[in-house]
Amino acid sequence: MKKIFAANWKLFKSPQETREFFSQWKEAFNGGKNEIVFFPSAISIEAASTSIQEMHAKYELNFGVQNAFTQAQGAFTGENSAAVVKGLGGKYILIGHSERRQIFGEKNDFLAEKVAFTQSLDLVPMLCVGETLQEREANKIFEVLKTQLADGLKKAEKNKTLAIAYEPVWAIGTGKVATPEQVQQTHQDVFEILKQLGFSAPILYGGSVKPDNAAGLIRIPHVDGFLVGGASLEIASFKKICESI
Ligand code: PEP
Repeated sequence: MKKIFAANWKLFKSPQETREFFSQWKEAFNGGKNEIVFFPSAISIEAASTSIQEMHAKYELNFGVQNAFTQAQGAFTGENSAAVVKGLGGKYILIGHSERRQIFGEKNDFLAEKVAFTQSLDLVPMLCVGETLQEREANKIFEVLKTQLADGLKKAEKNKTLAIAYEPVWAIGTGKVATPEQVQQTHQDVFEILKQLGFSAPILYGGSVKPDNAAGLIRIPHVDGFLVGGASLEIASFKKICESI
């Protein structure tokens, strides 16, 4: 099965830096059988869209936005429209990243609306789930994942495409990567929970993925790809991750 390697650029890279990245990426990465996805910041999304379309890549190359509202347009100051992302040729909407949950207070019910709206536009929601260190230490991992998945997917359609990113909060941007045993256990848990809920979806791992740990992690059962933050900003490191299998 193909793997999905996704880059979360957070609030980095201007439109100009985005164009520069893609003109070099085009020379650096020749492709393969896997899917590569970029999540630029919203202001740089048109630059990413144009660069990606002009690339005519022979491999699956897609983009999406890191967050979008539950409606296509209206009086929603500061929000992003999934419909505009679709119009630009985007495929994915990242939903419920831990930074959205923690910094912007987004709750599972709101995320469920976003998942449903994304699917209604025939875009692919990539729902992020994961426990905090406190929840891990209190042995609540399964419970937390079950709640985030059951609530986040309560309005989702089972026959529409979906992707999940499992990202332990304590491993995001901290340099602390989960051990292969921890990743194996949680991906198995996410797989089982999805099955119980009647969904089947690729499960990406995220949390300090780097060129030197990617090859070990990507071979773990039910690890269907990565969501990469810091190491996706540089061509050399993201290319190595994309070539880890
Ligand atoms: C992320 O932002 O989703 C992420 C996993 O970041 P990092 O790779 O920097 O830990």
